[in-house]
Amino acid sequence: MAVATQREYLLFINGEATEPDDGELREVAEPATGQALGKVALAGERDVDRAVDAARAALEGDWGKTPPTERSRLLHALADAMVSNRKELAELETRNVGKAISSAKAELNGAVENFRYYASAIASIAGRSNPIGGSLHFYSLKEPVGVAGQIVPWNYPLLMASWKLSPALAAGCTVVLKPDEATPLTALRLAELASEVGFPPGVINVVPGRGPTTGAYLVSHPGVDKVAFTGSTKTGAEVMRLASDGIKRLTLELGGKSPNLVFADANLEDAIPSSVWSIYYSAGQSCEARSRVLVERPLYDDFVSRFSDAAGRLKVGDPLEPETQVGSLISEAHRERVHGFVERGREEGAEVVIGGEPTNGNGAFYPPTVIAKVDNAMTVAQEEIFGPVVTVIPFEDEQDAIRIANDVRYGLMATVWTGDPARGHRLARRIKAGTVGINMPYTAIAGIPFGGYKQSGFGRELGLETLELYLETKSVIVSTSPKPINPFGL
Ligand code: NAD
Repeated sequence: MAVATQREYLLFINGEATEPDDGELREVAEPATGQALGKVALAGERDVDRAVDAARAALEGDWGKTPPTERSRLLHALADAMVSNRKELAELETRNVGKAISSAKAELNGAVENFRYYASAIASIAGRSNPIGGSLHFYSLKEPVGVAGQIVPWNYPLLMASWKLSPALAAGCTVVLKPDEATPLTALRLAELASEVGFPPGVINVVPGRGPTTGAYLVSHPGVDKVAFTGSTKTGAEVMRLASDGIKRLTLELGGKSPNLVFADANLEDAIPSSVWSIYYSAGQSCEARSRVLVERPLYDDFVSRFSDAAGRLKVGDPLEPETQVGSLISEAHRERVHGFVERGREEGAEVVIGGEPTNGNGAFYPPTVIAKVDNAMTVAQEEIFGPVVTVIPFEDEQDAIRIANDVRYGLMATVWTGDPARGHRLARRIKAGTVGINMPYTAIAGIPFGGYKQSGFGRELGLETLELYLETKSVIVSTSPKPINPFGL
């Protein structure tokens, strides 16, 4: 697959690229330049039917009998193929999403690690065994949950595809993956690579399509046993409703408005650059972006000034330039939405310290923006802006910091910066979030469970726990007695 312009990217069903039956072709353009990138096939309902049928046939065919060692070998082979094709994959992601190529490369490494992690974690899939008493003996079997319908958003297309595919395939499921209609290119390429390294036809199917039609149809499909969704909280609620009819197994990874707490005793040499990274990485289009920076009152003015200074030095521009740190947003429509929130902040009385106006010229660029004098009740502190916009909120003491950190409907991630280790651990217990970092900004690491409290969703990705979400436990109870059991005494 060349990275050249104006090619067609087809659906991937049953081991091959295929034209849509009842879907359509959609032009995709590079968000950073507005230039045409190619045409993408979008799946219609008949295409989803074909993909689900292929996944079912693979599950009931040889894939269902594949031993874990073979699945492990294939996952490692796919990781190797990604490494061999890393230049192409990183460029494709950058052109399709507009994000800085340095970010795309980092995410590619993360995606490779996920496949390797689950290639090893397969070894932990095991039932257990117990005598029950008398002559009864129990053992359990771990079986794949079946066909997984997986839906991912546009902000990390390749990484999210790897988060979804790797545990499902390790567990022995088959998959129908629906990427966002605007950003399916790397997921399609991943499916091709998987086929090239030996994944049997039908195990991985990729059907880009529109959410409310193709996505909803996939979630409701009677041939789908498990739904794994990553996206906004609003859509997550709709997916939950749709999945309830078939009593489908469900995992939801949703939005966030994560706090970054900075105490006056923190090492600012560390806290400031890391806090800048924690919001502006991927132009703030991250579920776990630390978009609310909570700062202890005596430090507030100095912090705002030093943070803004550092944010203003970020290199914004051509995503394909290796030096670029902040690329384009996904689209001009999204940029308008982001800017609308900043305007709302101004109306509500907050102060825009730097940024706050769309960048002129081609592409959907928006500058790193700092909003100070924010009260946690303001819209900019409560709603997910999903752009390079941080809100800085003062707090009085530890109790106040905890109160503000938890005063939001989300609970995905939190970071605490403090020179007092005991305080760090105290806050880790009190903050309602799926992940808490202490003096460290990172969040998504293969092997470490990642997911939400509250309206950030449920279920975990990246960890051993994730495998359980793709497995059923079957209890087998055996009589070892030589005598008949005869419960009615007949
Ligand atoms: P979105 O909810 O609009 O779309 C996400 C996906 O769902 C897309 O593939 C879309 O086509 C599909 N979809 C839309 N409507 C649907 C429906 N009715 N039925 C089935 N599928 C449907 O979200 P978005 O704006 O594309 O993505 C950004 C959101 O994703 C943010 O809220 C972000 O926080 C969240 N996110 C969460 C995580 C996490 O791990 N918690 C990771 C990345 C992004």
